Amino acid sequence: MEKTVVPYGRQAVTDADINAVTEVLRSDYLTQGPAVPAFEQAVADYCGAAYAVATNSATSALHIACLALGLGEGDWLWTSPNSFVASANCGLYCGAQVDFVDIELETGNLSAEALAQQCEIAQREGRLPKVVIPVHFAGQSCDMAAIHALGQRYGFAIIEDASHALGGCYHDQRVGACRYSDITVFSFHPVKMITSGEGGMALTQDESLAQRMRCLMSHGITRDPSEMTGPVPGQWYYQQVALGFNYRLSDIHAALGLSQMARLSDYVERRNEWAAQYHDALQALPLLPLSPLSVKPERRSSYHLYVVRIVGADLEKRSDWFKQLRAQGIGVNVHYIPIPQQPYYQQQRATQERPSPDLPNMARYYREALTLPLFATMTQRQFDAVMTALSQLKG
Ligand SMILES: *Cc1c(COP(=O)(O)O)cnc(C)c1O
Repeated sequence: MEKTVVPYGRQAVTDADINAVTEVLRSDYLTQGPAVPAFEQAVADYCGAAYAVATNSATSALHIACLALGLGEGDWLWTSPNSFVASANCGLYCGAQVDFVDIELETGNLSAEALAQQCEIAQREGRLPKVVIPVHFAGQSCDMAAIHALGQRYGFAIIEDASHALGGCYHDQRVGACRYSDITVFSFHPVKMITSGEGGMALTQDESLAQRMRCLMSHGITRDPSEMTGPVPGQWYYQQVALGFNYRLSDIHAALGLSQMARLSDYVERRNEWAAQYHDALQALPLLPLSPLSVKPERRSSYHLYVVRIVGADLEKRSDWFKQLRAQGIGVNVHYIPIPQQPYYQQQRATQERPSPDLPNMARYYREALTLPLFATMTQRQFDAVMTALSQLKG
């Protein structure tokens, strides 16, 4: 492997983080102690949500979010093809079928316009989705007001996959406030905005959804007498009322996440500053056909990723530039391979004898997309190394 001078992303762990984790290790609780509810409260307060349920990953959170909304066999889940596979897999876990909605070329986000057209057709064919999962790509919120209006009209529930977007804003609210959705999910994997090692969280303003997710997150077991059937014989008593999972976050992980929350605003600030520098520096290289994703008015991206499109590129050109940059030690990446192109999803379609979905923007976007290195602790020297390598691209 070539030497990497600048990785595409990197977590930041401070002495304060290490102390917070050590404190848990010396305490009475490694799991189901006070750190998990403290972390949940911190994220809920930051985002302006009433309820938060911590899980061991965003993948787990997406799964229990779908189940809490009643997704099951015979139902459809729609999501963005421009995402990590977990955004779609949660539907299959529930026995539902999954379909994809095309994206906006200029933001990489699920297109509300394409969603409206697809709903119109699906209504005629009697296969409207039960759940739609917009993905806030690279940290910018989707057009949630428009997607919510379609949800009202066609009767689907909405889960925001905000794995990239902790710290982002939509209109005057933080992503996670669930103003235009039922549930919002965050990821705390090390490449994301803040990390707990592994971890995720589901936020909602709906008390009963929160209760259902909390129950499903821990074996489907409840200790709340109001959720039980029959008399409660004593304090030892609990009941399993649903088939749940062990998706709990440990206190060790939660302590790391909580400690990192203190720096989130600073990280969002710094990522936005680097994004602005990229923007200016790319404009100073007018011979390169590189077009950054645009951020729409009334939105603030968390800039989890800095993505440019090599306008007009085919797969060959993109992979050639990718190779040249990697050879210079620049940790470029590609987000994302279209989910419906994954062999597992192609097989699903083949067995159901469904044609491949028509996703022209996604197809073009995938040929052109290139993710440049961006992380909160990136240095000027690293930034300059990226720009130098870009200016030396050949062909
Ligand atoms: C990272 C990511 C996930 C999965 O998160 P985990 O915490 O690793 O399970 C889901 N969706 C998107 C868009 C992601 O980027």
